[in-house]
Amino acid sequence: MAYFLTCNRCKETTKAWEIVDLITEHTHDDGMLKCTKCDGEAHVYQVSQTQDGGKWERYIRAVIAFKTQFGDAYVPYVFLLSYTPNGKLQDVHFNYYKDLRASGGRLKHGHGPGGAPVFGKGGILRLLEHLAEHGILSPSELTALAGKVERKTRKPRRTGD
Ligand SMILES: [Zn+2]
Repeated sequence: MAYFLTCNRCKETTKAWEIVDLITEHTHDDGMLKCTKCDGEAHVYQVSQTQDGGKWERYIRAVIAFKTQFGDAYVPYVFLLSYTPNGKLQDVHFNYYKDLRASGGRLKHGHGPGGAPVFGKGGILRLLEHLAEHGILSPSELTALAGKVERKTRKPRRTGD
């Protein structure tokens, strides 16, 4: 599936042929989509029909891929989304692709290995770091989370009496 990127700066449209091309050729180091003409930030508009007859419109603004034990063939990734072309990043859309082209197969989104994302500890920490970097989580929210978890795990267990 091709992705059409619209530049937030020069307004030109550029094209990524598929997900691997999008990740490797159309992102800045921090994962934000970029215009290959002027290097400005870009977005991909997507709309999906929902089962209840509605639609889900969003703007893909960044894509972050994760290394797993499955190597380059099975790659979980997330899209960071906003709901206006240049708006605040708000949601995280989890995805997975499998790329078996190097061994004569195809590039596709699928199930099994290559289905639902599986993250190790390093991947989760990297995701939290990116979410904080992109303003979806604030440092104070992360601090509050750490405090909450610490209180939960330090709390003495009830003995039932
Ligand atoms: Zn541009």
